[in-house]
Amino acid sequence: MLDQDLSNWLDVARRDVADLLLNKGLYQRIDFTPPRPIRLSDWAAVIPPRLQRDCALCDDAEQTTWSYEFVTTNMLGMHSYKCMNCETSTTTFMLAMTSGGIKEVPSGPGGGILDRHLTNYSIEKVGQYPAWEAPLSRTLVKALGRDGKSLFIKGSSSLRAGRGIGAVAYFRRIIENHIDDILRMVAESAAAAGDTAASEQIKAASQNLYATDRLKIAAQHTPAHLKPGGHNPLEVMYSAFSEGLHSLSDEESAVVANRLLESIAYFFEVWQENKERADRYALAITKAATKSS
Ligand SMILES: [Zn+2]
Repeated sequence: MLDQDLSNWLDVARRDVADLLLNKGLYQRIDFTPPRPIRLSDWAAVIPPRLQRDCALCDDAEQTTWSYEFVTTNMLGMHSYKCMNCETSTTTFMLAMTSGGIKEVPSGPGGGILDRHLTNYSIEKVGQYPAWEAPLSRTLVKALGRDGKSLFIKGSSSLRAGRGIGAVAYFRRIIENHIDDILRMVAESAAAAGDTAASEQIKAASQNLYATDRLKIAAQHTPAHLKPGGHNPLEVMYSAFSEGLHSLSDEESAVVANRLLESIAYFFEVWQENKERADRYALAITKAATKSS
């Protein structure tokens, strides 16, 4: 397994397997065709020796490095990783290897012994423990609250399992539950910018019976700092309430759900960060004022 072609292939294959382990749902698989047949016993070389992921115990670190620990069997086996930071957390994947083609290659002195080589094979993720959890920043959890966090995880899990219709429903519920927060936040920005007309309009909108109508007004007044490159997350949220959406397939809904996921995460994270930063600033200024007086 040492020549350049093989080592290049291995680099790509290990990245793909890392993605399978970290981000993909169960029963998803990757097919491999090495540049030349590899020994049957070498199939697991595509399993990465290290992973970068969150650790529930290592709360302060964003992500930690996890090292490959052991494999129980060759074809259907447990593959474990341990967090190198706390040396406590472990995570185990169950993988099934299926060979697509076997070639007998002479080896040993005089080539008398036949070695079994794989021409192609696939690896399928059939188990994961502890269960996969949607990656959720602490900032987002603070902004969404407990119910919002639970809905966000359900939405992300549905999306990951290919259930786009369900994912859209969960994300819409988050928006409905936070619609008043969204309006208040947009109204505050308008007031801070001295736009009294907009501020009045948004206040009037909060009396509106329908979440869709309230969201529409909010989207029209999204502050510039929440529209990176002109992309308006509130506009994306508003469009998720449009008619005709319920006729979409799971695949089509998944596209909508992905946009919602990104927009919800962006809007609420930036909002929460701004709020915390503003609070810290106000506190520092008050302290400084008390000291100088
Ligand atoms: Zn750890």
